[in-house]
Amino acid sequence: MSTQKKGWKDIPLGGACWKSSTEYKTGDWRSYKPVWNTEKCTRCMFCHIYCPEGAVKHNVETNEMVFDFDFCKGCGICANECPADAIEMVLEGKE
Ligand code: SF4
Ligand code: SF4
Repeated sequence: MSTQKKGWKDIPLGGACWKSSTEYKTGDWRSYKPVWNTEKCTRCMFCHIYCPEGAVKHNVETNEMVFDFDFCKGCGICANECPADAIEMVLEGKE
């Protein structure tokens, strides 16, 4: 096997999304869904800050964390970063 590195002409073309992420509904990727626990939640907003899709928002009127499942891709970062253990990742359809 050759150990020589390939040049840019030798590697296959990659793909790029042609739309902005606001038009590309990443919720289709999800197999696990975040389930929020209002009792445990301290409203620290870590989930809002860390979500790579901007899919978690705080509703000021109801004081609830709201998940946009059109864009939540089920990565689990919010659950991992939540210091209060207030988000559980549950298999889609089993929540
Ligand atoms: S990270 Fe956890 S405790 Fe903080 S707002 Fe989100 S769900 Fe609530
Ligand atoms: S699972 Fe991932 S995409 Fe969905 S709300 Fe949590 S951090 Fe955002």
